Amino acid sequence: MNIILLGAPGAGKGTQAEVICDRLQIPTISTGNIIREALKTGTEMGLKAKSYMEAGQLVPDDVVIGIIKERLAKDDCKGGFILDGFPRTIPQAEALDKMGVVIDKVIDIEVSDEAIIKRMSGRRVCEKCGASYHLDYKKPKEENVCDKCAGALVQRKDDHPDTVKARLDVYHKETEPLKDYYEKQGKLSVVEGQNEIEETTALILKAIEA
Ligand code: AMP
Repeated sequence: MNIILLGAPGAGKGTQAEVICDRLQIPTISTGNIIREALKTGTEMGLKAKSYMEAGQLVPDDVVIGIIKERLAKDDCKGGFILDGFPRTIPQAEALDKMGVVIDKVIDIEVSDEAIIKRMSGRRVCEKCGASYHLDYKKPKEENVCDKCAGALVQRKDDHPDTVKARLDVYHKETEPLKDYYEKQGKLSVVEGQNEIEETTALILKAIEA
């Protein structure tokens, strides 16, 4: 099954993608993680993306569309995949359609801006593998250490309050119209994000199986 997770930054897409990927045994493709990795290794694409990312702006469509094209061509995507953080604009969604990628379900995780701002301040990510944690809702077993790879947990630069505000503005302007786009294709399911991660997961799995 080919699934898109939609939602504002901080709505829990990354966390939910990890759980669903385990359950359905299909890979998660996170453009954010791919870009952060490129930034760390200092590739040309990483350098191009850096200033946009740090300002909370979207990386240009042609760059992310190129990333996705390359990633979806890999063998592990043949049995299905979860897209986390792509598409984020109408031209990106159109590019997927043009590539002939058939999307089965689009799950929109709804969380209010106020709740997101509160959540983002407690978010931590593993600097090694990208797994996400939260100081209140998803604590690692050992403080500041990743359960999966023992990497250090850090706050993303773009999770700082001013940047979060900019990212929410971009989300409402550029990404939210995708709800309409996929609603018209009959693929959209809306899930209210819950405080408990497991409760949101249950709602998402129900929507996927419907
Ligand atoms: P994320 O981890 O998904 O919140 O992505 C972090 C940042 O990476 C975003 O704020 C953008 O700067 C960039 N990014 C990730 N995915 C996309 C996308 N599909 N289109 C444009 N920029 C993206």
